[in-house]
Amino acid sequence: MTSSNTAIAAIQCFKVRLPFNHGAPAPLFAGKSRTTLDSIWMRVELGNGMVGWGEAYAADLDAVCALVRHRVEPLALGKDATDRQLTSSLERMLHNLGRSGPVLHALSGLDIALWDLRGKLEGVPLYELLGGAKRTRIAAYASLLQYYGNREHLETNVGKAIDAGFTQVKLHERTAEAVAIARAAMPRGMPLMVDTNCAWTTANALAEVRAMATSDPFWIEEPIWPPEDLDGMKQLRKDSQIPVAAGENASNLLELTRMVTEQAVDWVQPSAIKCGGVTALQRVAEACANHPGVRFSPQTAFFGPGFLATLHVLAAAEQDTIIERLFCDLAFTPYRDTIPLVNGTFTLASAAGLGAEPDVEILAASEQA
Ligand SMILES: [Mg+2]
Repeated sequence: MTSSNTAIAAIQCFKVRLPFNHGAPAPLFAGKSRTTLDSIWMRVELGNGMVGWGEAYAADLDAVCALVRHRVEPLALGKDATDRQLTSSLERMLHNLGRSGPVLHALSGLDIALWDLRGKLEGVPLYELLGGAKRTRIAAYASLLQYYGNREHLETNVGKAIDAGFTQVKLHERTAEAVAIARAAMPRGMPLMVDTNCAWTTANALAEVRAMATSDPFWIEEPIWPPEDLDGMKQLRKDSQIPVAAGENASNLLELTRMVTEQAVDWVQPSAIKCGGVTALQRVAEACANHPGVRFSPQTAFFGPGFLATLHVLAAAEQDTIIERLFCDLAFTPYRDTIPLVNGTFTLASAAGLGAEPDVEILAASEQA
């Protein structure tokens, strides 16, 4: 029987749109000009009044809110938040609506909120529930948005990231020329990652990656379209001898663990707000601990409870690793005061659960659904 005081009593969605400035005209996202960084923040309240927070990926804010309202909430209300199998049982109940996409994104948000609540119920930081902290300081790399090869924007923003204390930089660029511009603006030996967002197919990826070799990329991220072409990535790793990173567009946990066990990539990059929350992220971390040839570096192009949850998983992970931080100025920077970023490193708080509560001003500025 469900204990009434830890039963889920209410779920609320906030459509968070964070205006940002990345020092250049707005980049394109899914064919549209992008001026805000969006996600759903989920507030989950228990019968005892305790509140936990989660975050769901939302390329379409309305679609994810509708799924939460019409499909997830009716199944979740009254269920015991301490049941660690809850997310996977809901995933199974909803499987014929799709094994990826908005269904899994909504469940990811719920899962993160449930782990926040479990930490709060036990009065411990989330990393304690994940096996204890091996570290509480996590180094971040500056993840620059796309500048479409513009020399001035690339040089200026690489310089700004280094001035801000970052010691590793990632680009979202697709040409060897753009990568060479950034490389020339960096100190010798500083890691430079390149994310192409599935720019190529197996037919042309090798030539494009080889052209970037002189800039010594630390990894090439999502070099292949479609992202589930694991054989293509394996072949590219072998032929190019340049490390490959991928995982943010994996459909679900099974595909992510396959990427690890089949050594399809050098770096696996699950997204907590897409692939099943803390539960899934921790499983991928465990797979990496058993296959040390694959390194764990979650994708975190978001700033809310999902970012905090990822920090906790990294704190408890066997492997020492790095976290992504989008490099831009935000109208509001969530958790700036409680989880500070100093010289490119985050330091986790020891408060219970995720360790920080959402900023009131962000919630006030966000539409509730
Ligand atoms: Mg990426």
